Amino acid sequence: MINLDDLDPTKEYDLGQGWTFKPVLGSRLSFPEDTIVGASVNHLLPNGEMCAGIVRWIKSGDDEKYNRPIWDIIQRNPLTLDPSIQCPRHPESHGYIREGKWVNA
Ligand SMILES: [Zn+2]
Repeated sequence: MINLDDLDPTKEYDLGQGWTFKPVLGSRLSFPEDTIVGASVNHLLPNGEMCAGIVRWIKSGDDEKYNRPIWDIIQRNPLTLDPSIQCPRHPESHGYIREGKWVNA
């Protein structure tokens, strides 16, 4: 269960259904270092390789230039994001973070 206002950036959280969630801090994007700007959302590919994708909900200046997606926070506690999250390497791995958990699409 993910509550945005209660995240420990040193931890990796279990979303269920084989997905995990590790907060990403803003230091690389010139936000204050302790700002959580998104998360690395991770899962195993069918070949057993770990796959990690960044889901971000705070914009940086060059997102539009590089056409990077930004997710909307529908609810903070427990976390619900929109739109869905789809793995670019295995499009069948597709779902949502809703009520702090992974929900398959
Ligand atoms: Zn993936």
